[in-house]
Amino acid sequence: MALDISGAGMTSQRARDRMITQLSELGIRNMAVLEAVRQVPRHLFVEEALVHRAYENIALPIGYRQTVSQPFIVARMTEALLEGGPVRTVLEIGTGSGYQAAVLAKLVDRVYSVERIQALSRGARELLSRLKINNVSVRHGDGAEGWAAKGPFDGILLTAAPREIPHALLTQLAPGGRLVAPLEGVDGRQQLVRYRHTEEAFVRELLDAVCFVPMLSGAEQ
Ligand code: SAH
Repeated sequence: MALDISGAGMTSQRARDRMITQLSELGIRNMAVLEAVRQVPRHLFVEEALVHRAYENIALPIGYRQTVSQPFIVARMTEALLEGGPVRTVLEIGTGSGYQAAVLAKLVDRVYSVERIQALSRGARELLSRLKINNVSVRHGDGAEGWAAKGPFDGILLTAAPREIPHALLTQLAPGGRLVAPLEGVDGRQQLVRYRHTEEAFVRELLDAVCFVPMLSGAEQ
């Protein structure tokens, strides 16, 4: 079946433009990020029954008890990753639907993404290829290990929340690079954090409060 990339009604360009206005009102300042979000057809990444809500600023189910984040959080994390120096390569942990990877693909040279649920990684790879987004590589595996063979990366983005940042990921962050992740605290609350790899150390900054699915260990078939 042909992909309805341009959409109609609730998925039309007008609906998408409204969402971009909302994101900018909520504080997203990076114009390139707003333009990337405007271009990616989010309605193709969510469950069919919820296509009509794809351009609302809400998280939506993508199957396998996982969700794609609300567009504001996708934009916010992307903005936080890009701020502070050039980003050519990005490693994403938690491919899910492939939506965040598709947004990143518009902004950087190359995206590497790891997903522990095989069906999701396969679905994302297929959809990205149908959309002719050719600078994303998707791998099925445990994201805690990163993707050493392709690193080091200028940016690393986690879209599932661990209790602490897996050590392997920090070792795959290039000097000058940034890692952005939702971290789960002992009280169960999550906070978006950014680590900057400076000459002396990893400098940690706290960003917004967020709500992500947990990062789980091991790959699932
Ligand atoms: N970025 C995704 C959001 C996915 S939700 C999108 O744009 O749609 C988070 C995803 O992280 C889920 O698909 C979940 O299966 C995956 N995940 C959780 N723990 C993981 C791990 N250890 N390694 C890789 N992926 C993981």
